[in-house]
Amino acid sequence: MTIRPDAAKPGTPVILGIPFDANSSWLRGPAGAPPIIRVAFHSGSSNAWTETGVDLSPEGTYCDAGDLKFTFVEPFAAIEKRVGELLDKGLRPVCLGGDHSITLPIVRAFGKRIPGLTILHFDAHPDLYDELEGNRLSHACPFARIMEEGAAKRLIQVGIRTVNGHQCEQAKKFGVEMIEMRHLPALERMKVDGPIYVSFDMDALDPAFAPGISHREPGGMSTREALAHIQAITGKIVGADIVEFNPAQDNTQITATVAAKLLKEVLGKMILN
Ligand code: MN
Ligand code: MN
Repeated sequence: MTIRPDAAKPGTPVILGIPFDANSSWLRGPAGAPPIIRVAFHSGSSNAWTETGVDLSPEGTYCDAGDLKFTFVEPFAAIEKRVGELLDKGLRPVCLGGDHSITLPIVRAFGKRIPGLTILHFDAHPDLYDELEGNRLSHACPFARIMEEGAAKRLIQVGIRTVNGHQCEQAKKFGVEMIEMRHLPALERMKVDGPIYVSFDMDALDPAFAPGISHREPGGMSTREALAHIQAITGKIVGADIVEFNPAQDNTQITATVAAKLLKEVLGKMILN
């Protein structure tokens, strides 16, 4: 049984779906991801134990705040407000995207409450553009805004394989610690002091493992490499997101299962660390 956030003890991880993809630059679809990840997560095809030995089945191990409903409030304001409410209850939000632009309002809520945040960002792309096609809130830009605003202290990127001149300059300007895909594994570099926020873009994975994404970039991580890097994290994880799963591209439904597996192992690490 999954409990509601109001019944949860402080420190409990809380799942929040954010069905928003209006800042995607190429294909739409990630707005449909949260309910599909949940179905795969609760599927009877696997059990509730993580590889690291955490049993997620007892009531209250984690909780679920459902999917954010967008009304007449500006979407980023609505996301920041809801994540802030969950943080103010002492919970640890794990957001299911949505496109990667949602990480900006999420991390804004964290930055106002938790100083000294380190972001561990898994992605094929640095997402550091100053703007893309005139949109400064594009899913290609969230980490530029986060670093400009000082919402996080450190940004460590893992799995990058699309860096261009502009993004290289942006990375230098913001002091980003970029671990390119060609230099993996980098398990030692996952030993970071908390508080840590994990932002996982599904396209960090090779499209052979996770085809259900908008921007298929070959040469990425295997599911095992991604799990190994998550499991190597040592500090306290205060929050996370899993974004850019695009069900419209997921012909065999395997990407939903991979996203659910990552969710499970991230929850396990949050409970352990
Ligand atoms: Mn991204
Ligand atoms: Mn990406």
